[in-house]
Amino acid sequence: MTDYTLAKDTDAKLDIIEHINQDHTAELMSIVHYYYPNIEMTEAFIKDISNEGMLVIVQSLTKTRELYVEFKLEGDIEEQILYLAYMVKVKQGKDLNSNKKQYFEVIGKERLTQNMIRLILQSQTPLPSNYAGYTYGMLLKVLNKVPERPISNSTSSIAIKLAKKYGNQALLWFLKHLSSKHRYQIVETMNKDVRLYTLRKACSSIESDYINKGYMDIFTHDSSPGSLWAASLNIGDVIFSRNESEDKHEHLSTGQCVLIADETAYPALAGILECWDNTKLPHIIILSQKQSEQAYFLEDSDNQHAIEHTTNYLPKDAQIHRIICNYSEQGSKVIEILKGIDTIDATWGALENSSAKAVRYYLRNERNLSGKQNRIKGYWRADKDLK
Ligand SMILES: Cc1cc2nc3c(=O)[nH]c(=O)nc-3n(C[C@H](O)[C@H](O)[C@H](O)COP(=O)(O)OP(=O)(O)OC[C@H]3O[C@@H](n4cnc5c(N)ncnc54)[C@H](O)[C@@H]3O)c2cc1C
Repeated sequence: MTDYTLAKDTDAKLDIIEHINQDHTAELMSIVHYYYPNIEMTEAFIKDISNEGMLVIVQSLTKTRELYVEFKLEGDIEEQILYLAYMVKVKQGKDLNSNKKQYFEVIGKERLTQNMIRLILQSQTPLPSNYAGYTYGMLLKVLNKVPERPISNSTSSIAIKLAKKYGNQALLWFLKHLSSKHRYQIVETMNKDVRLYTLRKACSSIESDYINKGYMDIFTHDSSPGSLWAASLNIGDVIFSRNESEDKHEHLSTGQCVLIADETAYPALAGILECWDNTKLPHIIILSQKQSEQAYFLEDSDNQHAIEHTTNYLPKDAQIHRIICNYSEQGSKVIEILKGIDTIDATWGALENSSAKAVRYYLRNERNLSGKQNRIKGYWRADKDLK
């Protein structure tokens, strides 16, 4: 990589490397396989990224080697990798829009706090038992109820029309020849009716011999599309996801951990706590913009049997820090708390994107946490943060 120009923003580069190495190694392996079809590979990790390409460590049963993958576009490195992943999918004949559809019937709905709506869902196919942090990309639709919207003549809709008419190859060509700004708009448009929601819990109902029931807890706010969709759903409606992904937490099984969640990450945090197997109790930082949302978590686990299934418990004797403030101040308030914790071995957290970045950078640069131990994610973007 010595002949190549180094990415200017080291923190941003490390963010991308850590993100791909943690959550997208399958896609990375597909990319490597496309470039080097004849090599054996059991695992692949990005070692470094320049503006022109990435250096990948590829492991097989017998050896470890470094391979170089050249980028195809001019643009930022995140876009480059996204484009390569799209390109490989198209070459493999896969649909760009979906990896797996999962249908759910809404069998119940309840309000957990002033702003949190729980959907109780039933599935005809087994749901994952490792539900902690498991996420679905839900289409904000109810099957057969919402008519198709007319397509306008914007750049994004031309791209989508092209994809429909000539297939994904045409869309790929189009994406490659667009400016970075337009590419971003198209990816946004393709995802505009999709929102990620976590499977809060999965279990089987008495009559079922597989895991067929799940909860999704949706934080509603400001008449946003996701909030309106959740509010509009009725018992009997069928809803569906376009893709799904698991979340990994092995790094939390030993040492002193810190867990951080805003309202959108409460369901994932509750799942992680339910499956907790580390003998050391974590520090838990619970963020909210309003006092009312803190009621999602109860602290008295002695009452577990008295209170019904809807309740989420914090482990007894864990160190709980509750922060109530505007999302824009949450990053600095979390860092203040982290400064007061002597030992931090591993973290998991999810909050607004800019705050998440600030916390992740603090843990990386001031507390020397490696990417594997430093899993702080942006779960949503405030408007000002959009490109
Ligand atoms: C892996 C993952 C798992 C997630 N799991 C869940 C989950 O289980 N439950 C859940 O509720 N969310 C979850 N989220 C977040 C959820 O996907 C986003 O909150 C959602 O995309 C926001 O969609 P929206 O339609 O409400 O608002 P958008 O259409 O995204 O935005 C509309 C407006 O609302 C603002 N906005 C968006 N989110 C918030 C917020 N939280 N607080 C204040 N203003 C906001 C935006 O800045 C914009 O102005 C998850 C996200 C990820 C990445």
